[in-house]
Amino acid sequence: MSHDPLMIDTTPVTDVTAAAFTIPTDSPEADGTLAWNSTTMVLVQVSAGGQVGTGWTYAPAAAAAVVSGILTDLVTGGDPMDVPGRHETMVRAIRNAGRPGIAGCALSAVDIALWDLKARLLGVPLHRLLGAARDTVPVYGSGGFTTYHRHQLEQQLTGWVQEQSIPRVKIKIGEAWGTRTDRDLHRIRQARHVIGDDTALYVDANGAYGCKQAIRVAADAADANVVWFEEPVSSDDLVGLQQIRQMVRPDVAAGEYGYDLPYFERMCAAGAVDCLQADITRCGGITDWLKVAAVAAAHNLEVSGHCAPHLHAHAAAAIPNLRHLEWFHDHVRIEQRFFDGAFNPTGGSLRPDPHAPGHGLTLRAPDIASFQVA
Ligand SMILES: [Mg+2]
Repeated sequence: MSHDPLMIDTTPVTDVTAAAFTIPTDSPEADGTLAWNSTTMVLVQVSAGGQVGTGWTYAPAAAAAVVSGILTDLVTGGDPMDVPGRHETMVRAIRNAGRPGIAGCALSAVDIALWDLKARLLGVPLHRLLGAARDTVPVYGSGGFTTYHRHQLEQQLTGWVQEQSIPRVKIKIGEAWGTRTDRDLHRIRQARHVIGDDTALYVDANGAYGCKQAIRVAADAADANVVWFEEPVSSDDLVGLQQIRQMVRPDVAAGEYGYDLPYFERMCAAGAVDCLQADITRCGGITDWLKVAAVAAAHNLEVSGHCAPHLHAHAAAAIPNLRHLEWFHDHVRIEQRFFDGAFNPTGGSLRPDPHAPGHGLTLRAPDIASFQVA
């Protein structure tokens, strides 16, 4: 049989598995509008040609049922080289399930697993397969939950800034739906005191404030030199975000609840943000996260990856208009505990391994097994 050098020999996807794991937090966590004691990860693995691609999303266990009930049959037997084709087939199939939400999370996890699989089949790092625009990816330390007591907050901030030399950190504010602004302001000033003058301070209200309230908080916190104000009001309030953006000094950011491209286009077109956030585990995986970056670029905006830093790193390395990724305490804890090949953020950036195929992560299956719920 003659061998055409332009043909890539591949075998079809033989297996798709989805499982959900619920992992308790290391202490109670809350932001301005939600509190939680555990985090559920829905993990997808796709196999072909002796290789396994792995993706995941942080979503209810129901996302695993969407994978097994709707998506598995669409991916099995397909060519793992043609990820956008599989992606489009899945997008069409979840129309009636409703793409925004759990189905979008399921789609994203499968898409990421397929990209990882393709890179492993080709024996190349994922960021090289996508085409790298940079060698390193900046991160900011993220946590500072409203549930933390004084010493917990100090310890976490000190760990990022002094032990790991990360030059940007973010804390949660908007406690109890914006009803504790005195404590918010106190914690902002405490954070500034702990991190010193040379570290950038970010805050995230998770949509807890009203519009004028958010403008007042920003003014009252001026002495703490906050440079990033995330979701000061609901990210659905595009007019409110745009108005706040005109009135406050920090950059206004939002976008973590975006599940499709029109969402991000509307947010950009409304002039609602100074930096667009997008979550690769929600927006449609790597395939669509790259498109979100293109939407942002068309509006002269940078993109920041929301949570799940180990899944964003390679796609982030592939876009020119990257601001940074969120080194989110809750997800970092899970990703470092259950995967070999996890990143070290020391110095404030991640460096995708130029030699490890795929995203370079390997699940420690025996370690996570006891947390499986579905
Ligand atoms: Mg946020």
